Amino acid sequence: MKRSSDFVVVGGGVVGLTVALSIRGRWPDASVVVLEKERECGAHASGRNSGVLHAGFYYTADSLKARFSRDGNRELTAYCRERGIRLNQCGKLVVTRSDNELSDLDELFVRAERNGVVVERLTAEDVQRLEPEARTVGEALYSPTTSSVDPREVVASLVDDAAAAGIEVRTGTVYRRRRPGGLMTSRGAVAAGYVVNTAGLYADRIARDYGFGEQYGILPFRGLYLHYVGTAPVPKCHVYPVPRLDNPFLGVHWTTHANGRVTIGPTAIPAFWREHYKGLSNFKFNEVLEIGIRESGLWLRNTQGFRALAWNEMRKRSKRKLVRLARGLVGESTATGKWAWGSPGVRAQLFDTKKRRLEMDFVCLGDDKSFHVLNAVSPAFTCALPFARHVVAEIESRLPGNRSRGRTESHFTEVQDIVPIESNILPTAHSGSGASLNE
Ligand SMILES: Cc1cc2nc3c(=O)[nH]c(=O)nc-3n(C[C@H](O)[C@H](O)[C@H](O)COP(=O)(O)OP(=O)(O)OC[C@H]3O[C@@H](n4cnc5c(N)ncnc54)[C@H](O)[C@@H]3O)c2cc1C
Repeated sequence: MKRSSDFVVVGGGVVGLTVALSIRGRWPDASVVVLEKERECGAHASGRNSGVLHAGFYYTADSLKARFSRDGNRELTAYCRERGIRLNQCGKLVVTRSDNELSDLDELFVRAERNGVVVERLTAEDVQRLEPEARTVGEALYSPTTSSVDPREVVASLVDDAAAAGIEVRTGTVYRRRRPGGLMTSRGAVAAGYVVNTAGLYADRIARDYGFGEQYGILPFRGLYLHYVGTAPVPKCHVYPVPRLDNPFLGVHWTTHANGRVTIGPTAIPAFWREHYKGLSNFKFNEVLEIGIRESGLWLRNTQGFRALAWNEMRKRSKRKLVRLARGLVGESTATGKWAWGSPGVRAQLFDTKKRRLEMDFVCLGDDKSFHVLNAVSPAFTCALPFARHVVAEIESRLPGNRSRGRTESHFTEVQDIVPIESNILPTAHSGSGASLNE
């Protein structure tokens, strides 16, 4: 096994794979390795999400999410078409359940306009014509560019792209710790010119190994879904409630998937450990302690209304409750009958322990030796392609010298029992201070 690389990307989710491809695009001569701890890529958030390509009207214009959703939606749509990946261009309705929600709906129109995202204002009658299964009490918002894909098909295609681009994807390889000039994995040491951390639920831990993000910790939130298995009419487009704009989650909604199936969810139930999907799977006692302490603090101080959020979300573990909530967005005869639990996902939500708040935007930290993507929560799947280019531009700006003007002579730090390699891409590692890019 080749044990050295110009760039080592830790984490084979959609962010890691697209960043690896962007690095290769920017520096075609650089060697790039992706380390993925699971047997296949996309086993966590990237393969366990709703698969919705968001349009980008939820986010304030100053956020990274706003910057990359609109373009990400367009680029991933084009990518799926080009690769023959199933795409359901069904559009999305955001409906109101009470007059109180109309001001937040107006705010979504303002955000859409600022972000350059096309949305339409619909009356209740328009909604009936467009989607007879949906219900709204007042005006509604329609987004024609919101669509859905099977996220696992996208990940599989990116893995193929990586192989075709000469990127080595080492599955079944766990990052263990940093070591001089490289890192230690479950399958031995690897010399690395530059390390990019896109490890999702474990990104905060890896960042701390490199001296970044001391104030951050992951708070995992479990997203449960119910699949409709009955035969009654279902919505043809996505139907969402107006979200609480101070909350990072979008509320229980109806998703029409690429294969035509319909789900409701996801929940955002506080999880007790990072990969807390079902039962005691992936149980880790130290994580229960760490996360339990964080969640108890949030509960006691009621940070960002955590008590109500956690309580309301925990109640959604009941099938009946989840269905009742979703029913508030559709007609009485819509999707009557049977529902079955689907495969859950866990959100790698970042918590700032100093400011005591849930981070709402992507957080990127790095220097001339490593770069860390934290809080790659929804809609990081939608954003992946332009966000990856942004990450690579940020990495480039941290490398000493002007990389865009050409390559410079450089080499890796020699590490015991690691084959040292010469690189004309990256400079000799030297210390640098971390800079927050969180915008
Ligand atoms: C329930 C849910 C619904 C969502 N819905 C949507 C949606 O509809 N649209 C949208 O745009 N986004 C959605 N998202 C968000 C989206 O899924 C994520 O933002 C995106 O997948 C993040 O990708 P990632 O590569 O950062 O993380 P991940 O896919 O989690 O990838 C991180 C990878 O790092 C690996 N890893 C971790 N630790 C190590 C280690 N020590 N060594 C080696 N490898 C390691 C993991 O195994 C994993 O494969 C949703 C997320 C969830 C949870």
